[in-house]
Amino acid sequence: MGSTDEQPFILIAEDEPNIASFAKMYLEAAGFRVDVAERGDDALESIAAERPDLLLLDLNLPGVDGFEVTRRIRQGDARAMPILMLTARDDAVDKVVGLELGADDYVTKPFDPRELVARVRAVLRRSDGRADAAGDDDMPPVLEVDDLRIEVGPREVFVKGDAVALTPKEFDLLTALVQARGLVLSREQLLEKVWGYTFLGDSRTIDVHVRQLRRKLGDTCPIETVWGTGYKVPARR
Ligand code: CA
Repeated sequence: MGSTDEQPFILIAEDEPNIASFAKMYLEAAGFRVDVAERGDDALESIAAERPDLLLLDLNLPGVDGFEVTRRIRQGDARAMPILMLTARDDAVDKVVGLELGADDYVTKPFDPRELVARVRAVLRRSDGRADAAGDDDMPPVLEVDDLRIEVGPREVFVKGDAVALTPKEFDLLTALVQARGLVLSREQLLEKVWGYTFLGDSRTIDVHVRQLRRKLGDTCPIETVWGTGYKVPARR
């Protein structure tokens, strides 16, 4: 706490001091306010007390691990807070599980500090847009596809009138595809629309989120795979 409100506040949950101080140094140099928690339970306390704008989260943490931290955040009052995971280079399983639990994106260790700052900015930019979505002229407040109803302003999704809990990125991805109804969007286009970048994008991120949407929405999920191209919501179903 303490510095100006205009500086976004980032909490780093990381128990390896070298990595935590390296990330902190570069993020502070990029204009962010940064705090570090070395344990998962400490991170959860800090989130409840201070509401960071973004959490940079190591998965292998003492106390409460990063998967459980993600799960608790997504079920709690801070559920809309963006989460950027820190993962080991080759651990594809960790990445997929973390994204399925509701992390927004990941950065692989050891990371290039410029990549870290770019990803933090991209995730924050997209989450800022959430608050403005209701006033966006080209976005109708309610989108419907058969039994699926998306209320863009409050960011709520209903299947046959029942609310379905989506992560922020699942919501953005579904909304982007429904808005582009009838058009095929490539994974690169979706990364740019939903995550805010293409140059570092990993198309697997899109596939994981589509799979989660299909699991949560069942037969009502309107997203179709277009092999070799991307995804679409057909104009007619
Ligand atoms: Ca660790």
